[in-house]
Amino acid sequence: MLEKNKVLLEVKNIVKYYPILGGVFLKEVGAVQAVDDVSISIIEGETLGLVGESGCGKTTLGRAILRLEEPTSGEVLFEGEDILKYDQQQIRSLRKKMQIIFQDPFSSLNPRKTAGSIIAEPLIIHGVKSRNERNDRVQKLLEVVGLKKEHMKRYPHMFSGGQRQRIGVARALALNPKLIVCDEAVSALDVSIQAQVLNLLNDLQSEFGLTYLFISHDLHVVEHISDRVAVMYLGKIVEAAGSEELYKKPFHPYTQALLSASPMPDPKSKKKRIILKGDVPSPINPPSGCRFHPRCLFAKDICSQQEPETKEILTGHQVACHFAGEVGL
Ligand code: SF4
Repeated sequence: MLEKNKVLLEVKNIVKYYPILGGVFLKEVGAVQAVDDVSISIIEGETLGLVGESGCGKTTLGRAILRLEEPTSGEVLFEGEDILKYDQQQIRSLRKKMQIIFQDPFSSLNPRKTAGSIIAEPLIIHGVKSRNERNDRVQKLLEVVGLKKEHMKRYPHMFSGGQRQRIGVARALALNPKLIVCDEAVSALDVSIQAQVLNLLNDLQSEFGLTYLFISHDLHVVEHISDRVAVMYLGKIVEAAGSEELYKKPFHPYTQALLSASPMPDPKSKKKRIILKGDVPSPINPPSGCRFHPRCLFAKDICSQQEPETKEILTGHQVACHFAGEVGL
């Protein structure tokens, strides 16, 4: 039974910079500012969608939360404990509680191993010694994700894309995790298969009380699965709100542009498309003030000079824009 509104994960002011080395002595000459001062929290049992264009830092943030990348600074509290202070042994036991499903189900599965041994791998690493016990668990996991016992002996190339992602889901579930980071988990799949895997993730969430951080560049996929959505632009969260509210009433000009560019299921929709100026700037030298200002249709002088604070415009709806609620569509 899940405790109501219990915060499972709290990320505070996370920064991840990748140093750029140059010159004869390979001195640090700059940094790629992949994630810059991001704070988010996830309630137990909910799905937080993290959306943004490719290169906005969303995958880096997911990996930093799992400590697959070491953040430059900040705090990651999981069940109230700062896991950035954990040593290697503590990280190892943490892996049981936090798992990841990768984007490409083909390259994330070892082609030389059968589905059975891929799913059993985390069980071996975490000390399930009995082969029978492992086999039983693998069979149950295959069933849970809609595959069959006979699939245990097949190799990844013998499955379809959707089936391969089901193996990835089974592997992530093997250790009964609490949090799963789904990193573009359905992006490589056909639309009809995407729906099947999303439904599977939804069903598993209700059955096992899972919590998801669902990372995607696709706004419609995120809408389908998320309770809340955070929008990221050039390493910063620019807007976060309940899913329904964000899609109905986006306040940030970037969110509005993203939503306007995303294809509508209704061909008769008269929605106006916002064309953004220029390309996404480089995270090596991001624009001053509001990072979105060179592309924003509503930018004023202050936007290039001062970074906007994140304000709560409505209950649970945060926006980082100097003119939130005053500009936009
Ligand atoms: Fe646009 Fe200025 Fe708001 Fe940034 S702060 S989104 S540049 S209006």
